Amino acid sequence: MILHVDMDAFFASIEQAINPRLKGKPLIVGSRNSKMHTVVCAASYEAKAAGIDSGMASAEAFKICPGLEFVAAEQGKYIWTSRQIFKLLKGFGFEVLYASIDEFQMDIMGYPDPDSLAKRAQGRIYEEFGITASVGVAKNWLLSKLASKLNKPNGVTVLTSANLEEVLSRFPASKICGVGKNTALLLEGLGVKTCLDLYQKSAQFLEHNLGKYGLNLFISMHSTDSFDSLKGPDEPKSIGHSYTLPRAVSNPQFIRAWLRTLSEMVARRLRQDNWESIAVHLWLNGPEIGNFGAQKTFQQPINDGFEVYKRCLKIMAKLGPQTPLVRAFGVSCSGLSQTAYARPLFKEQKRRGDLLKALDSINSRFGDNSIYPAVITLAQ
Ligand SMILES: [Mg+2]
Repeated sequence: MILHVDMDAFFASIEQAINPRLKGKPLIVGSRNSKMHTVVCAASYEAKAAGIDSGMASAEAFKICPGLEFVAAEQGKYIWTSRQIFKLLKGFGFEVLYASIDEFQMDIMGYPDPDSLAKRAQGRIYEEFGITASVGVAKNWLLSKLASKLNKPNGVTVLTSANLEEVLSRFPASKICGVGKNTALLLEGLGVKTCLDLYQKSAQFLEHNLGKYGLNLFISMHSTDSFDSLKGPDEPKSIGHSYTLPRAVSNPQFIRAWLRTLSEMVARRLRQDNWESIAVHLWLNGPEIGNFGAQKTFQQPINDGFEVYKRCLKIMAKLGPQTPLVRAFGVSCSGLSQTAYARPLFKEQKRRGDLLKALDSINSRFGDNSIYPAVITLAQ
């Protein structure tokens, strides 16, 4: 059983907790200082009620709500709070994973009263930081993440075998993490409208219509195991590489080049043993951020360095708009499965697969790094 904690309007709530003047007011946190020329990276619930949400241009948000309060994002605060919440949750004695800067997953095994545990976690977080969280509990990570979204803010949703189907029937399939707009449209054409419709489809049906992604979706929806669900007894738990720089840097190009380098190294090792991964873990160390690690699980398994890198950037983006000072990096892939169903769906995928094969054979014949993406030279 997994307990998923998702902080409510995280950045905005932290700002409101620190500055009581902002409490109860519509507030946006902008990615840059200039309040009319930035993007909303978080909106308080009061702002959300007026129709404002993250991703919107701040100028547009002010048009909707002229009395809006504005604060420029300060990622150090959010990272610090995230790490304290992680520690607090660890104090409950279960294994805890970062799902992103404001989401955490706890493997609560067969804990008899998940509802009271969820409320205690919410209570402790509120006591310490004055901010609220929504909690979902279900048999696996995907359903617990879904459950955490069903009763926001400050809600608890426990999905049991008794209520699962009834709850799933009330929400559209697009509520499930990884079901994007296009997939939702495709599913609708097949008569799959609600989360329950999707849940009741067979592995064969989903694989036939959505390819390997569909098969993974099926596994993620129905698995009853803990974090280690995809691993056998002597399979590696994760494959990773890390690197420490002589001194801390904050040049975004340089940092991205290093992330790409590590991603390529990890991906090559995945391909060597026919592994594919659905979870990417990024770890950073620096003078302002200390040790920060965040993990994200995706629907589509990968073993292409460029894809690993893009997922690292997605995790980095969660840390806020500015690139922090970084001294050391680590990239690792987990949630491994053998590439048994490798049937490229599209011409593009086939071409990319052929290219990777060619690069691997050049590198194993002429030595590592005989050929590599040009962007990596920026890291040297
Ligand atoms: Mg959240």
